[in-house]
Amino acid sequence: MKPAKFEYLAPTTVDEVVAALAAHGGEAKLLAGGQSLVPTMNFRLARPAVLIDLNAVRALDYIREEGDEIAVGAMTRQRTIETSALIEQHVPLLHAATRWIAHLPIRTRGTIGGSVANADPAAEDPAVVRALDATLVVRGTRGSRRVAATDFFTGMLSTALQADEVLIELRFKKAVSGSRAAFAEISRRHGDFALAGVGAQLTMRGDKITAASIAACGVGPGPVRLDEAEAIIVSGGVAAIDRAAQAAAAAGAPASDAHGSADYRRRLLREMTRRALMQACGHA
Ligand code: FAD
Repeated sequence: MKPAKFEYLAPTTVDEVVAALAAHGGEAKLLAGGQSLVPTMNFRLARPAVLIDLNAVRALDYIREEGDEIAVGAMTRQRTIETSALIEQHVPLLHAATRWIAHLPIRTRGTIGGSVANADPAAEDPAVVRALDATLVVRGTRGSRRVAATDFFTGMLSTALQADEVLIELRFKKAVSGSRAAFAEISRRHGDFALAGVGAQLTMRGDKITAASIAACGVGPGPVRLDEAEAIIVSGGVAAIDRAAQAAAAAGAPASDAHGSADYRRRLLREMTRRALMQACGHA
């Protein structure tokens, strides 16, 4: 199928993007990598009257070190993140998760901003944002505001973004030295969206775990933070991995669908948590 007719705009600055959103309101859609939006337009599940293409807004494509944070522009390609030494060093969970996203050609076009704004419950980037308590910077007609990850994801494919707002930046706290991360995932075929995926970033001193950030995808209406599992692993260390995985399974709220029952996904959540923690601890 081909998309329904639309007007095409290609602004080159964020101000022009915001002006275009203000002019066209709910009739417009932003185009980033197009890897989710274009298929839904081709199937006519989305029929925006106006498409505002972000690809010429060069100022939204960067990875920068800013004090104790790493700032990532919304239009940064997933492939750029996958190959970034700054991300590998300072945001190891994002680095570990990115290679699980789809296939190389899709990551070459897909952007972190598009994935997070799209808020697919099975997507890896939203789970990383939730695990690491990233800050989302959005700009609209009333100026810029910062939204905490916990307030950003509001349900299945929905976020706190207003119709006149564009996501411009994601800010991640730098991992403390000695942090280790792993992402474990299972899908029906390589590159498919996850049936269940779990990302864990741990701060370790010897065999002791002093901090843990864990979140899952594919097991709820949005990314699921696994805080009870975090508390168990911090107090119990490596020996508590099975208990943490059990707590994770209880925290998920998976639904049954054509790919598997809720019970099956819950069991996958437990196993993916165990694998992510074992790997992050270096015991895989
Ligand atoms: P687009 O498709 O351009 O946009 C997605 C949505 O976000 C649209 O509604 C758009 O208006 C909005 N949007 C985009 N940018 C912004 C912004 N800056 N501010 C506000 N709103 C914005 N993803 C995964 O996470 N895991 C997978 O395993 C996976 N597998 C895939 C397999 C296939 C075969 C395909 C085609 C895609 C797959 N994807 C997967 C999706 C892919 O990673 C997309 O790149 C991603 O979900 C969306 O990013 P995008 O830049 O392409 O956004």
